[in-house]
Amino acid sequence: MPMVLFGWGKESTKVCDAGIMKCDHCNNYATFEIRELARKASLYFIPVAKWDRKYYLVCGICQYGLELNMETKNKIFKEMQSLPNNNVSAIMWKAMHNIVALEIQRLKDYKGDSYAEEILRKMKSELLEINCKEKDINYLLPLYFKYLIE
Ligand SMILES: [Zn+2]
Repeated sequence: MPMVLFGWGKESTKVCDAGIMKCDHCNNYATFEIRELARKASLYFIPVAKWDRKYYLVCGICQYGLELNMETKNKIFKEMQSLPNNNVSAIMWKAMHNIVALEIQRLKDYKGDSYAEEILRKMKSELLEINCKEKDINYLLPLYFKYLIE
């Protein structure tokens, strides 16, 4: 699938947030968006026609966009209805960072699965305390652990 650099000079429209994932281009865990690129015709600055629409999954860090077919775009759009938006995800990600930062010394001495379970429980209960939704936690915690292990 072709990739496109968004950002300066690329006129695109945001379709929806697409959650946190690992970017194949810059290798960061980042928030993604689905953006639409289309050719437009305007008459006295009023858009009158749009064609050749294409959808891209765009990384919030490097701004590279991976072209999506309609089926994948619709699938992500539907999934996002029950997932946290990018603002919530970013706040939760930062909260998880803070919890782990406090535990970093213990993480260094980490020697077994029981500790991983313990910190997982601890993170979950601290996230619940700051009013994060359980379904959002269940979406982000595994992602965050993947990020930590890498
Ligand atoms: Zn990226």
